[in-house]
Amino acid sequence: MIPLSAPEIAGNEWKYVKECLDTGWVSSAGPFVTRFETEVSAYVGSTNAIAVANGTVGLHAALRAVGVQPGDEVLVPNLTFVAPVNAIVYCQAHPVLMDVHPHSWHIDIEKVSTFLAKECAPRDEGLFNKKTGRRVCAILPVHILGLACEIEEIVALARRYGLKVVEDAAEALGVRYRGRHVGTFGDMGVLSFNGNKIVTAGGGGMIVSDNDACSDYGRYLTMQAKDDPVEYFHGEIGYNYRLSNIQAAVGVAQLERIAQFIARKRAIAETYRAAFAECGGITPMPNLPDVEPNYWLYTVLLHETTDLSRRQTIIRELNARGICARPLWHTIHDLPPYRTCQAYCIEHSPRLYERGVSLPSSAGLDQAHLMKCIADFKQVING
Ligand SMILES: *Cc1c(COP(=O)(O)O)cnc(C)c1O
Repeated sequence: MIPLSAPEIAGNEWKYVKECLDTGWVSSAGPFVTRFETEVSAYVGSTNAIAVANGTVGLHAALRAVGVQPGDEVLVPNLTFVAPVNAIVYCQAHPVLMDVHPHSWHIDIEKVSTFLAKECAPRDEGLFNKKTGRRVCAILPVHILGLACEIEEIVALARRYGLKVVEDAAEALGVRYRGRHVGTFGDMGVLSFNGNKIVTAGGGGMIVSDNDACSDYGRYLTMQAKDDPVEYFHGEIGYNYRLSNIQAAVGVAQLERIAQFIARKRAIAETYRAAFAECGGITPMPNLPDVEPNYWLYTVLLHETTDLSRRQTIIRELNARGICARPLWHTIHDLPPYRTCQAYCIEHSPRLYERGVSLPSSAGLDQAHLMKCIADFKQVING
């Protein structure tokens, strides 16, 4: 099978992991953890970085660190990997599902703006959802597929209403919006180093932030909320969410090569784009103003008339030809755990789910395999 997004392990990973094993520093206390934090924060341009076990727990800790309380509401897009929505529920808070824009595929800022203006009312204690009576605490925008949402505008809107912003930048390490790395616009941003992400640590995540108070609190929560280093005094319920030194060692080695990974992903995206420009009816991945993408997963929309079962057939046929194509994520509002959530003006996300196909985009994908993906894709959609 030609993988969708496989890790490229060809740098200093072996050397750095051996260093961990040789020195006995294998767990979360160890020099690579701090080094990974320092190097990620230097790369994205944040003042703080907290290494965590994965992106999902990073989102949970970040939501708690910015002040999401049980019973609060958090706005999140309806077209996303499920992890950020789950993280809201881990805080005993409630997701409010927002539609995405049909052209950008990202959270629709006009709808967010209308929701805040029309469906919510300010009180002394914050902004309240008129329908549910709950406090709206934060927005959790998700940058998907190696693109970016209109993050500067979302943060400005959130500030107007006194809301916090936690950015899910799990797929977007190296993506910039107006020249600045995504993940650094909101109060906190979260990266992932899962095996299929642009840089892997064999699993891992990083919370980045310029807010010192949130970062200190976030670090405290991810390290068991220990108040006293000797006496085991814990001021509240914390978590064991730290990254291990072995994982950080892999991450450090991977980060050394991120420029090459992104360059290759951009070249793959350009090859797909040019090849599909000639096939009528295929909508290419959005080319968004102000965004410098990493093209984590090159994704297209099938012909406007394509229904869910036709898209499923196309993906099955690609898989049968040895090509790991996959759909966009199932829309959240019709997943069993989230059917009862408030879902605001959902119009476009279901069609994107029905029509979207992600294609092999590994940094290690060679030209011959890329050409096979293109040729087979054209045959299958015309077949
Ligand atoms: C991968 C991913 C996550 C979760 O990261 P893990 O490290 O796998 O826990 C969260 N959000 C999005 C959008 C992702 O793609």
